[in-house]
Amino acid sequence: MLEVSGLNAFYGDSHILHGVDLTVGSSDRVSILGRNGSGKTTLMKSILNAGPRIHGGIRLDGTDLARETSFRRARLGLSLVPEDRRIFPHLTVTDNLLIALAAAGDRAGLDLERVLDTFPMLGPLAARYGSQLSGGQQQMVAVARGVMPRPRCLLLDEPTEGLAPVIVRQLAASVVRLCDEFKIGLLLSEQNIWFARFCTQHVHIIENGRIVFSGSWDE
Ligand code: ATP
Repeated sequence: MLEVSGLNAFYGDSHILHGVDLTVGSSDRVSILGRNGSGKTTLMKSILNAGPRIHGGIRLDGTDLARETSFRRARLGLSLVPEDRRIFPHLTVTDNLLIALAAAGDRAGLDLERVLDTFPMLGPLAARYGSQLSGGQQQMVAVARGVMPRPRCLLLDEPTEGLAPVIVRQLAASVVRLCDEFKIGLLLSEQNIWFARFCTQHVHIIENGRIVFSGSWDE
């Protein structure tokens, strides 16, 4: 379980996140919805300690991450697929996925076959180089790579940005299937409400760095 409590984040003198509280259990799928500039990426990066200066509590399965580097946070089971999803252009899709197992450290990662099975659109591309993929295909590889270490919590930062609707539907099905099958908690930042609603049970709305609503989709 990922527990974020009273999280504040700063870039220089700018106070970006204000007292964010949220929890993602091991079988929870949770969305953060917000407009451009509301603080979604800052929140994702803060949880991984990858950029902003932060103040507040972040625990993973009871372990306090406050003093842990982003590398250690990944080893302990957090996986971030950032907004600028970069894959290695000179590695094949298969190697782009396998290299992510390094982030698992001592924990067991996932089998390549099972991940390719969950992302059926990647199978035919397995031998291609990263540089030979479209932007949407690279995004699929980046999301699949994020699950290879079998994280306890997967952080997906606006994964649908720039994707065609048909690909968004495929990605939604893959994300739900892999989180359920491998018991991975999901924290998803999105502006695409359809995708967020399909993939998650709980939603937080963020405005100007503050959570202004938390609840179920029905609420
Ligand atoms: P988007 O949907 O456009 O990606 P977002 O919700 O992810 O937006 P953030 O990228 O977290 O929003 O930005 C939140 C605020 O922090 C914005 O006001 C932004 O200008 C500011 N900000 C983001 N990155 C930096 C940075 N490196 N230095 C200073 N300010 C930053």
